[in-house]
Amino acid sequence: MSNAPLTQAAVEKAGVARLPTPHGVFMAHAYRSGLDDVEHLAVVMGDPAGEGTLVRLHSECLTGDVFGSLRCDCGEQLNKALERIAREGRGVLLYLRGQEGRGIGLAHKIRAYELQDSGLDTVDANLALGLPVDARSYDAAVAMLRDLGVTSVRLMSNNPKKIAALETAGLPVLKREPHAVDPNPENHHYLATKRQRMGHLLKER
Ligand SMILES: [Zn+2]
Repeated sequence: MSNAPLTQAAVEKAGVARLPTPHGVFMAHAYRSGLDDVEHLAVVMGDPAGEGTLVRLHSECLTGDVFGSLRCDCGEQLNKALERIAREGRGVLLYLRGQEGRGIGLAHKIRAYELQDSGLDTVDANLALGLPVDARSYDAAVAMLRDLGVTSVRLMSNNPKKIAALETAGLPVLKREPHAVDPNPENHHYLATKRQRMGHLLKER
C-alpha cells in the first residue's frame, strides 16, 4: 500500500531556478513543507523522474556545510554527493533544513559539542541534554522525491535508517551507494561512534 497521495500534498514547490556551482549547473527546486514547516531545497541535475535516480538526503549542517568544520563529515559528504551527481549527469540532492545535529537544532548541537569537548561521544551528549539521538523524519524528503517523479533510488548513504525510511514509505532503494569520506583527526572518534553506536555502514579505519 502506498501513502503517496498523503505525502504528495504535504510539500509544495515554490520555485525553480538555475544553480551554477563549481560542480556544474544544477536546478534548484524550492519546496515549502507543511510536514515540518520548513523550506527545503532539491538540487537536481538532468531529469530526475523514473527509476534508479542517484539520490542524497543531506541534513543541514551549518558548521560543516558552510564553515567546513572538521568535527563531522557533512561538508565533505555534501561536495562529494554533488560531484557524483554531476559525473552521472543525473540525480537529486535534497538539502533538508531543520535537521541540524540530527534534528535537535543548531543551539542544541553546539551545546552537545560542548559536552563532547569534555569527553562524551555524540550519542551520550544528546542523551545528557535530554534530547533524542536522532530526531529526523524523512517524510518531507519522500514527498519531494515523489513530486520530482522519482520512482526508485540509488541512495548515497551509510545510514540504514535512511534506507528504511524510504522503503517504508514505498520508495524502493535499488542500491546503496557507499558514501564515506576519509576520516581526519578531528572527526575520527565521531565516525567511530556512528559506526559502533548508530549502525552506520562504515569501514573501520
Ligand atoms: Zn555536520
